[in-house]
Amino acid sequence: MVSNNRIIADPNCDDDYDDASLTTGDALGRMLSSVSTVFGNETVAVLDSLGRILASPIVSSIDVPSHRNSAMDGYAVRTQDLPEGDTRDLLVVGTAFAGKPYKGVVAENQAVRIMTGAVVPESTNVVIMQEQVERDGDKITIDDRHKDGQNVRAAGEDIQRGTTVLPAGRVVAPADLGLIASLGIGQVEVHRRTRVAFLSTGDELKAVGETLGVGEIHDSNRYTLHGMLTRLGIEIIDLGVVRDKPNAVREALTDAAARADVIISSGGVSVGEADYIKEILAEIGQVKFWKVAMKPGRPLAFGSIGESVFFGLPGNPVSVMVTFYQFVQPTLLKIMGAQEQAPVLVKAKAGNLLKKRPGRTEYQRGFLTTDADGGLVVTTESDQGSGILSSMSNANCFVVLPLDSGRTEAGTFVDVQPFFGIM
Ligand code: AMP
Ligand code: MG
Repeated sequence: MVSNNRIIADPNCDDDYDDASLTTGDALGRMLSSVSTVFGNETVAVLDSLGRILASPIVSSIDVPSHRNSAMDGYAVRTQDLPEGDTRDLLVVGTAFAGKPYKGVVAENQAVRIMTGAVVPESTNVVIMQEQVERDGDKITIDDRHKDGQNVRAAGEDIQRGTTVLPAGRVVAPADLGLIASLGIGQVEVHRRTRVAFLSTGDELKAVGETLGVGEIHDSNRYTLHGMLTRLGIEIIDLGVVRDKPNAVREALTDAAARADVIISSGGVSVGEADYIKEILAEIGQVKFWKVAMKPGRPLAFGSIGESVFFGLPGNPVSVMVTFYQFVQPTLLKIMGAQEQAPVLVKAKAGNLLKKRPGRTEYQRGFLTTDADGGLVVTTESDQGSGILSSMSNANCFVVLPLDSGRTEAGTFVDVQPFFGIM
C-alpha cells in the first residue's frame, strides 16, 4: 500500500488533543504543518492548465513586447524634428502596420504613418496621435506640444527576458494562460491532481432517487463536497454512504486510505452512540484533535490513516461547508502544491444585530451589499442553524466573528469573507 509518491501525512505528528478545544487558528496551523505536498508532476498543454498548480516557475526567454512599438495610431517622427515654439512640416514617406514594419530609414523632416502595435522605425522615437496633426497629401504639420518618447512602448516593457513571470505554486488563472502564451510557451509542468476519497456516514441517509422512510433524509453532503472538491480541481473518489456500523466504517476507511491522498468523511464524528469515526480512526490510524472552538463545526476530527490525511467533518450540512472552507480547503491547497494564501477578509458594517456568545469563533452566513453611500453592509440570515443548508445557498459571504466577541450591534464593522471573486 505504501507508494513513494504519496507521503503527505506526517506519521510523527501524533499530538492527541482529545478533550482540549483548539482555536481555529491553532487548528489550521496544526493541519498545515502536518501535511506536505503530493509527489509527482505532469506536463500539460497551456490550455489544459487552468486551475492547475505550477510545479516549476515560468521564466521568460524573450522580451515582451519583443520590439519597441506604437501605443497609438499616428505618425512616427524623429526627436530632432520636434519643433520648439512653432510648427513644422514633415513628409510622410511610408506606413508601418502591426506585424508589417516600415523598412526604410526615416531622414530629417520625414515621418512614417504608424498603427498601434507596429514597430517604431529605428531613427524615430516619438509617436504623434493622428488627431494632433494636420495632414495635406504627403505632408503633415506638427506643433510643439510633443515629448521625446511619447506613445512609444519599450521592448520588454511588459516582461524582460530572464524574469520569473509566475512562481511555482501558482494556481493558474485565465490571465496566466495568456501571459504564458505571450512568452511562446506551449506546455507547463504542474503538480499531479490530488486524489480525495469522500464518504457520508449515517443510517438515516438515502441516495437521491430513493424514497424516504420515516426519519430518513437525502444525502446532501455528498453533493456539496463533490462541488467544493471539483472547484479545486481534485481527482474525486466518491465512496457514497457508509452505514453506522464499526465494520462498515473500518472497511470504508481502509479502502479509502489505499486509494486516496486525502479522505474526507461527514457525520459520525461526535459522541453519540452511532458515532464511530473517532474510534475507528484511533484503531487504524491516528487522531490529532477533536474539538475546535468554533460554530458551526465543532467537533472536527483530523488525523491520518497510513499515508493519507484524514478529515472527519461533522454531519450537519452547514458545518460540512464551513469546516471545509476554513480547514480542508487551505490544507488541501498545501497538499496540492499551492502557495499559502491568507484568507481575504473585508470590513463591512453589520446591517443587523449579530447574536453570539464569547468563547468560539463564529462563521455566520451573510449577504454582502453596498449601501447608498457605496459602503459595504452585511446582513445575516435569520436562521443560523447548522442544518439549514438554504442559509448557505442564500448567502454570499461568511461573517467571521472572533473568539472573544459577544453580541455585536447593528452598525458595527465586522470581518467578512466573501464567497466570490471575479476570477
Ligand atoms: P452526525 O454528525 O452524524 O450526528 O450528524 C449530524 C446531523 O447531520 C444529523 O442531523 C444528520 O442526519 C445530518 N447529516 C449527517 N450526514 C448527512 C448527509 N450526508 N447529508 C445530510 N445530512 C446529514
Ligand atoms: Mg450520524
